[in-house]
Amino acid sequence: MLAIEDFTSALESLELGDKPAIAHASLRSFGKIQGGAETVLNALLASVGGLIMPTFTYKTMIIPEVGPPNNGLAYGMQRDLNRMAESFCHEMPVDPLIGTLSEVLRHFPGAMRTAHPILSFAGINVNDALTIQTIYNPFAPIGWLADQDGWVLLLGVDHTVNTSIHYAEKLAGRHQFVRWAFAKNRIVECHGFPGCSDGFEDIRPDVEQFSRLVEVGDSFIEAIPLRPLLLAVETRIKNDPLAMLCQRDDCERCDAVRVIAT
Ligand SMILES: [Zn+2]
Repeated sequence: MLAIEDFTSALESLELGDKPAIAHASLRSFGKIQGGAETVLNALLASVGGLIMPTFTYKTMIIPEVGPPNNGLAYGMQRDLNRMAESFCHEMPVDPLIGTLSEVLRHFPGAMRTAHPILSFAGINVNDALTIQTIYNPFAPIGWLADQDGWVLLLGVDHTVNTSIHYAEKLAGRHQFVRWAFAKNRIVECHGFPGCSDGFEDIRPDVEQFSRLVEVGDSFIEAIPLRPLLLAVETRIKNDPLAMLCQRDDCERCDAVRVIAT
C-alpha cells in the first residue's frame, strides 16, 4: 500500500521548484493508497506553489435546435437529454470522467472554484489564476500558470486528458466551438469550447525532451513545464493544421477542424 511519503519523495525528485501546477489524475492506476485521494492531494500541495484542477460539469449542457455552422455538433438531436440537463451551481459535483481527485480538491479547506457552467476549475493558492477565467476565455487560468513557469502534472494519465493542450490550440488559431449550458435558470452561450483531445498523445515525441517522469507504485507521475509545452503544440499546429486530430470516423469536432483547416 502506498503512503504519503511515496508521493512526496516522487514529487520531490521531479524538482518542481515551488511553481504552481495543473494536475490530472487517475488514482486507480496507482494501486492501493493509504488515505486515498486526500493523501495524494496533501503530497501535491506540499510539492507545488499552488494547485489547480479541472472540475468540469458536462451535465449542464444543452444542444439547441439550430446554431452556428462547423460547430462539431448535430443540432436538435438531444431533445430528451436536454430535459435532463441540470442547472450549474457552485456545489455541483465534478463530472465522473474527470476523476475523484478534483472532486476532493474542490471540498478541500481553502479551495476556490470558478463559476463557468461547463469548464470550471478549482484550486488552492491560485486565486489570481482562477479569477481571470471568463465565458469567452475558459482556459485563461492556464495562461496564468504558464506565465508563472508552472507545470502540468499527469498522475497515471496521458496527454489525452491534458487540458493545457486545448489552450495551446487556441493560441495556435485552431477553430474553437460554441456550446450552451443551463445556469441560473437561463441558457448561457459558452465560447472557446475546445475540440477533441483523443489525438493528443501525438505530441509526446515533441515534449519528451523536457518532460520528467517518476514511477510510483503501479503507475507514474509525469511533469511537463507549461511554457515549452504550449510552444511545442503551437509549432506543431502551425506546421500541420491537422496535427493531433483523432482518427475516429464519427468525431464531429475533429471533422469540423478538418473542414475549416483545409
Ligand atoms: Zn476527435
